[in-house]
Amino acid sequence: MGRSRAAKGDALNFVELIAKKRDGGELSPDEVRAFVAAASNGHAGDEQLAAMLMAICIRGASGRETHALVEAMRDSGARWAIGDVYPEAVDKHSTGGVGDTVSLVFAPLVAACGVPVVMMAGAGLGHTQGTLDKLVAMPGFRAVTSKHEAVEHLESCGVCFAAQSDEIAPADKKLYLLRDVTATVPSLPLIVASIMSKKLAVGAHRLVLDVKSGTGAFFKAPEAAAEMAEALVGVARAAGVAVRASVTDMNEPLGDRLGCASEVRAALAVLAGGGDARLRELSLALASDALVLAGRTPESACNEVERTLASGKARGRFEALVRAHGGNPSESALAQPRRVVAVTAARAGFVGAIEAEALGWIAVALGAGRRHQDDAVDAAAGIKVDARVGDRVEVGQPLAELELGRREADVESLAERARAAFTIAEHAPQARALVLARLQG
Ligand code: URA
Repeated sequence: MGRSRAAKGDALNFVELIAKKRDGGELSPDEVRAFVAAASNGHAGDEQLAAMLMAICIRGASGRETHALVEAMRDSGARWAIGDVYPEAVDKHSTGGVGDTVSLVFAPLVAACGVPVVMMAGAGLGHTQGTLDKLVAMPGFRAVTSKHEAVEHLESCGVCFAAQSDEIAPADKKLYLLRDVTATVPSLPLIVASIMSKKLAVGAHRLVLDVKSGTGAFFKAPEAAAEMAEALVGVARAAGVAVRASVTDMNEPLGDRLGCASEVRAALAVLAGGGDARLRELSLALASDALVLAGRTPESACNEVERTLASGKARGRFEALVRAHGGNPSESALAQPRRVVAVTAARAGFVGAIEAEALGWIAVALGAGRRHQDDAVDAAAGIKVDARVGDRVEVGQPLAELELGRREADVESLAERARAAFTIAEHAPQARALVLARLQG
């Protein structure tokens, strides 16, 4: 399973390290560095890395271990120090949610306001779909993997989407893929290290963070999301990165579409001036944060992003950035579902809640995510959410549509699970705020 023979006889006994963490011990910074090195250089097998990830997931990690993990993962590859070339460049990251395609609106919108965007994006994790998988749903799109290309893209269109590679954040590349398929995503230290190591490796001096809280988030309770936000902001602050973090509601899918091609469509709809109201609201709020980091007042930032979106400039910038990355920005080039299956309401009432994680896993089962490391994501597979929390529905009205791709799936049982993800109540629930808390550093 990928274990280099050269590792045999190393002073490090990886098994002892796993056992120490399994039993609740604290790894020393040297031991954390050895784990990360083993992930980057192949000196430990996937089974050993996965065992260590599970031990961390279950046992947690101390502040010292988390700090060592961030630094070792950051230093596992090159450091681009983009902020030294573009001090005004901003990066953005979400802790992972369902129907969360904000990055595809945020990047062109912020760039169209004159603030360069460099974003180290990730593939899908667990029940969430990743920005990278959505980007490559546009035929030909290639995320950059070298500083030279990153600077070229920032010059040409003001946006660079980068991906972990053997050059930059290789430890996150390896561990991210393993976590995705070993149920080891929901761990505060692993999420903090994954996000912050690649952000610091790229080296933007400004960062916007979206920390999800609710049924579709990895950390569901508001207190846990707040703890995550504090931890992320703390690492950014200690590294001298100016940061604005928002804890945002993920108790239903953010936008009305799940799946790669489908979420590109959702972003295009917002960029065209319409689209899902919640997706639009959060995209504008986080884009405003980026402009505040660039020196605007909150009020002028808010006005500027709204004006820029309405002017069509963000839509134009989207096309330019996709072309700069080799992709085809045309909506008609996106993969189409093979078949669409409506999931209808069995009773009349108001949509009281939508189990966002359940819908996320159904999208994965349809092909919108990976179940094994070498699975290909099917861009055509996804879900269109027709009824949102608070909507009135009648019997037989569509709640959602399953968009089938190439993957064989038990459609009937998935449709049943999707129906069960919608709670139909007698009364409309109270409206919930989208942005629950804000932090800055
Ligand atoms: N995004 C990441 O890049 N890593 C995580 O672990 C979660 C969200």
